[in-house]
Formats: sequence, structure tokens, C-alpha cells
Amino acid sequence: MSTIITQKNISKVFKDFRGHTFQALHDINLTIEEGEFFIFLGPSGCGKSTLLRIISGLEPKFKGSQIFRDDIHKEDFSFVFQQFALLPWLTVEENIFLGLQARNTLTTDKKKEVLELIKSLGLEKFINEYPKELSGGMKQRVGIARALAINPKVIFLDEPFSALDSFTAKILREELLSIWHERKMTIIMVTHNIEEAIQLGDRIGVMSSRPGTINTIKINTLPRPRELRSKEFFEMEDNLTKLIIIKD
Ligand code: ADP
Ligand code: MG
Repeated sequence: MSTIITQKNISKVFKDFRGHTFQALHDINLTIEEGEFFIFLGPSGCGKSTLLRIISGLEPKFKGSQIFRDDIHKEDFSFVFQQFALLPWLTVEENIFLGLQARNTLTTDKKKEVLELIKSLGLEKFINEYPKELSGGMKQRVGIARALAINPKVIFLDEPFSALDSFTAKILREELLSIWHERKMTIIMVTHNIEEAIQLGDRIGVMSSRPGTINTIKINTLPRPRELRSKEFFEMEDNLTKLIIIKD
């Protein structure tokens, strides 16, 4: 394993227009290893999205140091968001090819490869439809296909399944895992769902709020594919539940 991202003493203060300050993150120290599935787990408002935005470069203003391995560039990052963030005026196919077009890398071979990806995600029947015609689950499949189309080295997901019903979420989690096994990219994902964190993560950064910080990084050695109803799974669930401190 090789470290691709190192964060030291990261903190983030938001200032409103009156000059009032709010400390969203405090003293985050973290490394991300190549090929791992890293999860940030914590209650709403603890700073998960802010931290993900900082790591991925979407939020350039913060204190502390963040270093990427030499060969890791922001162009190799992809995003999947809770609310899908598809462009409503583009078809499914156009949404999926958008990142490649923006990078000017849409060759005939690449197009073939992405069409395979579209098929494997069960989207081929929908390629000419517009996002509003799709169910939430299908929209998120498009979101995932769009993110994968550029062959990212790192994929960032911010609560990608929390807007979906539990059955659809379960299927998409399994599909994400099989894509990860096949492509072996690094995944960094935010969730407030403990079961989801244990099912997916190699390591789970447990966060608490005010100020947002990482309390513990739990290494998840449960064998894959993970048996969700095993004694070990429930033990880890209890263990993590105790670590999550909710402040109102
Ligand atoms: P989470 O994703 O864990 O729910 P966020 O990272 O979205 O938490 O937010 C952490 C805290 O920072 C929250 O209290 C939120 O209100 C605050 N916050 C987030 N973004 C901004 C912003 N742009 N301006 C001011 N406060 C913000
Ligand atoms: Mg969030």
C-alpha cells in the first residue's frame, strides 16, 4: 500500500457576512492509501462534506497541510453526490460523456469502453432519456457511470445512497463494490449510515461535531463479501454506535 493523500492539522472556519465565525473542522490528521475504500462516518453537521470537499480540492480554503502523491492530480478525481447533480437538459448518454468531452478525450475506443460500462450498469435502455424521466436509483446509476467514465484514480462519494429507498440502495452498494473490485481505484465516501460504513469500508473515520473532528479510525477486517447478519458485523455496529457522539 502506498499513501496518496496526507492531511496534517487540517481545520476549517466558515465566516458569515457579519464576520461571525464557525469552526467546522478541527485538527484532522489522515492518510489515504492507494486502492482503499475509506469512509467518513458521523452525524449530520459534523463536517463530513466539508472534509470531502477539502480532500477533493473543491474547497480550496482551509488551514493545515494537504499533500498528494506526485502522480495524483485533481483531473483524476470523480464525484458522486447525494442529489445526483445531473444536467437536466442533457440526455443520460450526454451526461455520462460530459467529463470525457470536457477533457477532450472522447476517442472511438473510449466511447466503446463507456458503452460497455453503460450496459453493465443496466442503463442502455435509457441513454436517450432525460434525468427527470428516471427513478432515483437510475439517476444514481447515471451519476456513477459519469464518475467512472473518466477512469478516475480516486472517486469521492457524498452520501450517494441516502436519497434512495433501502432496496435500491442495497443493490447499488453491491454494484459499487463489484466495480471497485474490478477497477481497484481508491474510494473515499461519506455516510451517516453505520451499516453501510461497515459493509463497504476498509477503514472508517468516525467523526464528531463542534468542532468536526475524527475521533477514531477503525480498521475493518471483516472478510469480503461481508455477511451483514454475522455476529462480528453486529459487534462492530455496536462498537461504532458507542463511538458516535451526537450533540444537539
Ligand atoms: P455534514 O456533511 O457532516 O452534514 P457539513 O460539512 O455540510 O456537515 O457542515 C459542517 C458544518 O459547517 C455545519 O454546521 C454547516 O452548517 C457548516 N457549513 C457548511 N458549509 C458552510 C458554508 N458554506 N458556510 C457556513 N457554514 C457552513
Ligand atoms: Mg454532508
